[in-house]
Amino acid sequence: MIESKIKSVKKSMLAACVKLADLGFLAGVGGNLAVRINSELMAVTPSATDYYTMKPDDLCILQIKDLKMVEGTKQPTTESGIHASFFSLRPEIEVSLHTHQPLASAVSLLGLDMDIESQEGKKNIGYFVRIVSYAPSGTSFLVKAFRKRIIKETNAYLLRNHGLVCGALTLEQAITSVKLLEKEAAHFLKTRIEKNPNVSLMPKEMKAQLMEAL
Ligand SMILES: [Zn+2]
Repeated sequence: MIESKIKSVKKSMLAACVKLADLGFLAGVGGNLAVRINSELMAVTPSATDYYTMKPDDLCILQIKDLKMVEGTKQPTTESGIHASFFSLRPEIEVSLHTHQPLASAVSLLGLDMDIESQEGKKNIGYFVRIVSYAPSGTSFLVKAFRKRIIKETNAYLLRNHGLVCGALTLEQAITSVKLLEKEAAHFLKTRIEKNPNVSLMPKEMKAQLMEAL
């Protein structure tokens, strides 16, 4: 029973990774994905492996409580602690996705929570994205900082100066959510640029180019 669940989770994870890599959200071998198998186990992507050549056996099955690997040969993602925290503190979350997507990562440099404007975003994610204070990636300090910020009111968290972590009920919803968040990030940055008094000093064409890029 559990073997067939693991097999189907691995298959859908590989397909999701290719979609996300195509979107440019995983930035080379950066970013990672975790899916809950049950209350005790999760499947995670391995560390530093090309998403286009990844095979089912490359995925790692870990215990959520202590990150002990029960299946797999590769080194699990260094952000496994982030995913395990999400699954243990939010028992309804089934998928935890960490991306280095360009615009949300740009917003993470500002160190601010980001409001979500679209109805679809509010429905899938919540009314805002929470910022997590900076700690180096793959460390217990980052896991600790992330755990402190997890609440049930939002499924999305910006890791300061780094990227995004998004929780969802399905892989499909996770992909929809990170796409929505990229649009929300563009809107957030545009609004801030428009409000910034220094922008009025910028040559018109330069401002137009900047807005076009978002
Ligand atoms: Zn990262």
